[in-house]
Amino acid sequence: MTTHSVDGVPAQRDRDSAGVARASWLSTVDRYRSALSAPDDDRIWSRRLETASAAEITEIQAVKLRALVRYLHAAVPFYRRRFDAIGLEPGDIRGLEDLTAIPPVTKQDMAADLAEHPPWGTYTAVDEPTWLSKGWQIFASSGTTGAPRAFRYTGFDRETWAWSTARAMYAMGFRRGRDSAMLAFGYGPHVWLWGVHYGLNLMGIPIVTAGGLATTARVRFLDMYRPTILACTPSYALYLADVMKEMGLDPAETSVRHLFCAGEPSMAVPALRARLESTWQATLHEFYGCTEAAPSAGAHSCAEVSAAPGEVSLHLPGDTHLWEVVDPDTMAPVPAGERGVSVVTNLLSEASPQLRFVVGDYTRLGAEPCPCGRNTPRARGGFLGRADDMLNVRGVTLFPSMIEDAVRRVPDAGVEYEIVLTAPRGLDELMVRVEATAGFPAGDHGALREALVREIRSRAELRASVEILEYGVLPRTQTKARRVRDLRAETAA
Ligand SMILES: [Zn+2]
Repeated sequence: MTTHSVDGVPAQRDRDSAGVARASWLSTVDRYRSALSAPDDDRIWSRRLETASAAEITEIQAVKLRALVRYLHAAVPFYRRRFDAIGLEPGDIRGLEDLTAIPPVTKQDMAADLAEHPPWGTYTAVDEPTWLSKGWQIFASSGTTGAPRAFRYTGFDRETWAWSTARAMYAMGFRRGRDSAMLAFGYGPHVWLWGVHYGLNLMGIPIVTAGGLATTARVRFLDMYRPTILACTPSYALYLADVMKEMGLDPAETSVRHLFCAGEPSMAVPALRARLESTWQATLHEFYGCTEAAPSAGAHSCAEVSAAPGEVSLHLPGDTHLWEVVDPDTMAPVPAGERGVSVVTNLLSEASPQLRFVVGDYTRLGAEPCPCGRNTPRARGGFLGRADDMLNVRGVTLFPSMIEDAVRRVPDAGVEYEIVLTAPRGLDELMVRVEATAGFPAGDHGALREALVREIRSRAELRASVEILEYGVLPRTQTKARRVRDLRAETAA
């Protein structure tokens, strides 16, 4: 119970017990890794784990959870303090039924800890000596709400990350000997595509390196080097297609057969999915995770789900992560199949094995078997967006992805748009500013505006004013697009 620390430096005895707990955790993780360097068969990478029964997965999760709680108690001061505050000893957590005794961790909890312990906070298992002896790379949360939170991941994490991401991409149907991939990102501190990079390395799928290149150069690379997989955010996939058309090339005619997206909702937005797939004549796949606890293959689609029209779902591998869906107000688990926000426990990481971290995206959990043969739980309907991003407009709850769905249904609407909220007379006003497609005649803006107003009213159940902009006016981004400007505080009279 006592930490015996002076200026944050743990006493020798604590360092010893942290070392023992760390070794025990790493060997537990190792015990449940299979098919590390090559797939088990031509359909499923780690067959035993991905087709395990619910009872077998529960047993694996219980073993890992017990080792994890001991590890966090011994090696992660943030969790030690939280356990002490509620009088929780590691031995109190015997199985999944004890999980809800542990309070969920929010981004705000981490931000408060970071403010007290800059620049890293104390919520990871990596201190300075560990970083310098075992460190791999730093990844940072995008910092849209407050100071960026940086995570120092280790070499062990690089291996588990590559393995679990390879499993996800194998489920999507990516194969050595047939595919090559372009990763259209700047190799910055965002997590997702680094995992894809190392996962592709493990799978033996070659990479058309395109980091740091201008979009026009990427278009030329696509045209010349003919990758079959394009990995980027959904916004960037649409923008890249636009630039390609400006250069006289047709994205539908390229070698790209798989669009691999993350960072923003894509499969959960039907009209966006349809637009991406028709623009590129390619199949959309999605990956879902967070910097904090599930960069290593959180949820992912599979080839069978991607091939089918209608409701989408994402696999949630149970041996590597423990997913819950909770009520955002009470944080209590919701009954199976009901909507709530996502909470994850990372059962795979040395550096950031977060316990009940609130990722905060709306979804529903389902346990029905998937035609692909994987027996994991699934996020039904995919992920609609972070609860933090939800807007309340005149009392109506609005996900920005609903506006996206409306905009993507109108063929003459361009790729870029923004949502502007004001409150000129104390009353919320929703304005959606949408670019027309390149070359769209200005004389037809009236009809385009009408079509958008109609779609927004039917998708979002809100009246919006729509402004049509000339093509090319709004900013473009490679990472998460910022499409909402909430000016209500400034504009209220
Ligand atoms: Zn499946």
